[in-house]
Amino acid sequence: MKKIVLYSDKKDCCGCGACMNACPQSAIKMCEDEHGFVYPVIVDDLCIGCGACEKACVYQNSPDVHPPLHAYAAAARDNGVITKSASGGAFAVIADKVLSGGGVVYGCALVFEDSHLEPRHIRIDSVEDIPMLQGSKYVQSEIGGTYKKAKQDLTEGKSVLFTGTPCQIAGLKQYLKKEYDKLLTVEIICHGVPGKRLFQEFLEYYGEKLGGKITAFYFRDKSKGQGMVSRCVYQDPAGSKKESIKNGNLLAYIFFFLKSYTYRINCYSCPFARPERVADITLGDYWGFHEEYPQYHESQGLSNGRGISCVLVNSEKGKQMWDTCQDQLISMPSEFEKIARHNDQLRKPSKYDQKRETILHIFDTEGYAGVERFFKAHFKKDIAKQTLASMVPKDLKRRVKKLIGRLYQWKRS
Ligand SMILES: Cc1cc2nc3c(=O)[nH]c(=O)nc-3n(C[C@H](O)[C@H](O)[C@H](O)COP(=O)(O)OP(=O)(O)OC[C@H]3O[C@@H](n4cnc5c(N)ncnc54)[C@H](O)[C@@H]3O)c2cc1C
Ligand code: SF4
Ligand code: SF4
Ligand code: SF4
Repeated sequence: MKKIVLYSDKKDCCGCGACMNACPQSAIKMCEDEHGFVYPVIVDDLCIGCGACEKACVYQNSPDVHPPLHAYAAAARDNGVITKSASGGAFAVIADKVLSGGGVVYGCALVFEDSHLEPRHIRIDSVEDIPMLQGSKYVQSEIGGTYKKAKQDLTEGKSVLFTGTPCQIAGLKQYLKKEYDKLLTVEIICHGVPGKRLFQEFLEYYGEKLGGKITAFYFRDKSKGQGMVSRCVYQDPAGSKKESIKNGNLLAYIFFFLKSYTYRINCYSCPFARPERVADITLGDYWGFHEEYPQYHESQGLSNGRGISCVLVNSEKGKQMWDTCQDQLISMPSEFEKIARHNDQLRKPSKYDQKRETILHIFDTEGYAGVERFFKAHFKKDIAKQTLASMVPKDLKRRVKKLIGRLYQWKRS
């Protein structure tokens, strides 16, 4: 029987699960390694050597990529939609169109199950469920059997919107092997993902500090404006529901995520961190909007104070959907160059730093509490800076950014 090798180096596996979905024998299990990152493992007794898993692997086959056709800055017209979204809410608007037309949507949710928040892909078929998928979850989402389910939906003639990281979209396409007219894909710009175990142990630790069990977590809460402010809902021992809001940069998990210290090893050589895109539509944060457009006034509709999505439309199918969404969006044409200036991951992968190994080793040996101790002992300056930054009014920060934008424009002209 042919020897099946799914990967020989961890740099060549993103954990997308396409191989597992493709296996006709259910012979592939996704198992955690010593740091809690998932990798496929073949159960030899079940394997018949058919090779379907290798054919579905994005790292063993070159995925189709396309240069973006159009670029936009956009935000939902409905403020309520923006508030629940990480940036401008473009995802929710597209999802609404697909679901209102009788289609189904796949994306990442944090599902509270068996006392844990599980980051996983789910399927929704009703607009009421869109909030479950809204907002960024900065952790790897488990694909489970969603590629198979999406194929079944497509075979039954349903319209499917599948969303996720670029490697998850590439995994879906490689698994499907053929184009489906009724499939629309949306990817987020992605700089990398930590594993589920680190995330769950962080929540366990944080919950203990708060004196309860965390049942919901929002990485970017906007109740006090745009920024990396985290909100969690927890239940105290008496069973009462409580909330806590904190500058995410003061939590080791989020600080190290933003510093790119805790990703899967393959993320540091991500083949999708490039201008050419896998999905029909790419969404990201338009962080530098007010620097690129210093003359634009927030009263015109778009404001980084609430969140602006940067949007790349990469196919005709994507353009058709984008045009259909215009009634629910404030959108203006932009340029790839302007967006990419503030988004390195449209050109190159996140930079590897040796601190990754230090942090993951501490996590393995001392648990998440050790990671927090390391953070507090070695990042005192950053913690002080973040504590001070939390005190500066958001409006002042934005005005400074606009001024910097004007200076940039003056320098470039
Ligand atoms: C791990 C990660 C890294 C990111 N890195 C960048 C970056 O470097 N630059 C940038 O501009 N933007 C990045 N983003 C995207 C950004 O945070 C917003 O998600 C994006 O701008 C879409 O915003 P929105 O307001 O349209 O929709 P939102 O409602 O905020 O986003 C919801 C969409 O994100 C998907 N999603 C959320 N979490 C995950 C996850 N863990 N895995 C897969 N899909 C997920 C959902 O399926 C849904 O499609 C990242 C997001 C994640 C999850
Ligand atoms: S070779 Fe076939 S049976 Fe074996 S693990 Fe791969 S897909 Fe499954
Ligand atoms: S299909 Fe995905 S999970 Fe399977 S080996 Fe390839 S990259 Fe890894
Ligand atoms: S950085 Fe690349 S490989 Fe890593 S999760 Fe994002 S898209 Fe996948």
